[in-house]
Amino acid sequence: METKKNRMKLEFDSISENESFARVAVAAFMTQLNPTVEEVADVKTAVSEAVTNAIIHGYEGAVETIVILCTISGQELEVTVEDKGVGIPDVKAAMEPLFTSKPELERSGMGFAFMEAFMDELRVDSAPGQGTSVYMKKKIGTVNEWKES
Ligand code: ATP
Ligand code: MG
Repeated sequence: METKKNRMKLEFDSISENESFARVAVAAFMTQLNPTVEEVADVKTAVSEAVTNAIIHGYEGAVETIVILCTISGQELEVTVEDKGVGIPDVKAAMEPLFTSKPELERSGMGFAFMEAFMDELRVDSAPGQGTSVYMKKKIGTVNEWKES
């Protein structure tokens, strides 16, 4: 059987109103994979965390552009959230649970930990002054895999 392939690209302003827009848009795109309610919830949470980070940390409240790239390949969903903001000086440290550079905003430092927990793969590519790219991958519909084979 041929592998199902599809992709989409979203570009939107870095304003908080677009957090819910972005997670609903990605959720709508992934419906063609027949996800479970839980899988949709997982992806929505991960997308939400990445987009919130781009808005708050990447652009520090300035209105710039966030790009989301989504790819479907078979049962695999890949989501990349990109900003061209301030970037992360130490990605490894930033990804540690409870690490936050904005404790005064009452951030808990759990965004990356959630993305890691809810997706199968998480890769963060970032450089100071250049922006941040958050790549996430998740296999969808594995619960029903036995029915199709
Ligand atoms: P929470 O997500 O729990 O509200 P948080 O955003 O501080 O808190 P994480 O999402 O885990 O926690 O991010 C950890 C840190 O990584 C942030 O405090 C910030 O310093 C840095 N960071 C994350 N995303 C970006 C980004 N897109 N641009 C610049 N810095 C980022
Ligand atoms: Mg966060």
